[in-house]
Amino acid sequence: MKALIYGGERQALIRELPEPIPKAGAVKINVKYCGICGSDIGIFLGTHPRAKAPLIFGHEFIGSVATDGERFKKGDRVTTFPLLSCGHCLACRTGNMHVCNTLGLIGIDVDGGVCESLYVNEDVLFKIPEGVSDRAAVTIEPLSVILRAVHQAKFQARETAVVIGAGPIGMLTGIVLLNIGASKVFISDISKKRLELAEKLGLIPVDVSKENLNGIVKSATDEEGCDVLFECSGSEAAALEMTEITRVSGRICMVSVHKQPHKVDLRQINFKEQSMIGTRVYTKEEFGQAVEYSKVLEKDLEKIVTHIVPLKESGKVFDMIADKDLGTVKVVVDCSIK
Ligand SMILES: [Zn+2]
Ligand SMILES: [Zn+2]
Repeated sequence: MKALIYGGERQALIRELPEPIPKAGAVKINVKYCGICGSDIGIFLGTHPRAKAPLIFGHEFIGSVATDGERFKKGDRVTTFPLLSCGHCLACRTGNMHVCNTLGLIGIDVDGGVCESLYVNEDVLFKIPEGVSDRAAVTIEPLSVILRAVHQAKFQARETAVVIGAGPIGMLTGIVLLNIGASKVFISDISKKRLELAEKLGLIPVDVSKENLNGIVKSATDEEGCDVLFECSGSEAAALEMTEITRVSGRICMVSVHKQPHKVDLRQINFKEQSMIGTRVYTKEEFGQAVEYSKVLEKDLEKIVTHIVPLKESGKVFDMIADKDLGTVKVVVDCSIK
């Protein structure tokens, strides 16, 4: 079978591999789609702290069950909860397995889903709701990241939000915030194409290559700033500006992973009594909630899948994402096309 392999720094290679080997408790999944995530970009660039070549990319995969198992039957459409937790560290023992000291993921720490088929334990499979398209369902894994973030931020209906970064995570954050009743959601980026899509989704686009995000948010909020800011860009400028854009007693939720320490204006956290909130992946419960939520958000979820690439051409996905003119949001590999 074919697979997209991380072969070392800046090497994304299509390889012919032997068929996957059956495992006890696991069923074979014929992969339909697998989304490409920011962490996959880190792997490709050789900067991911854990991923080791050779590795099959992909933790955002959906597909159909190929053989009857205990709980799942042949033909069931499924998505996979990809977290791997140790089960015995403090986090795991206290019900927080998603922040396990040695947290791993399928597709980062073990082979993933950008391939024709693989065996997956039945206890991490979730059935995709009937009627939800594959195009929408492939975003369930990143959607569960957003559920965690809004839960962590304790976001409430009618609050104003700023989302920095209109990549897949920022765009999904905006979609969820509107759906749960945000009064206004500003979203910033430098990509015209991404901002056009954001506007179609009902978000207020701010092009930070020529507009001043802080000024726009302040003038829309009586000079006070937003209630909640979701940092989804990982950028140095965002880290420095986020406390300024957020109001007194506001919350700042760190969704993006900042790969190196960035300057933060900590004085404003004191003076404005702001809360800075961490969020990391999602619980299994939140993953299940995202599966159900995909029924509600289906049409918007489909819109953020901007590019679908056949598996045999998927070696180019990282160049596509890096090409700012393409304005990709979510790039997905179609593993079902021979
Ligand atoms: Zn991801
Ligand atoms: Zn653990």
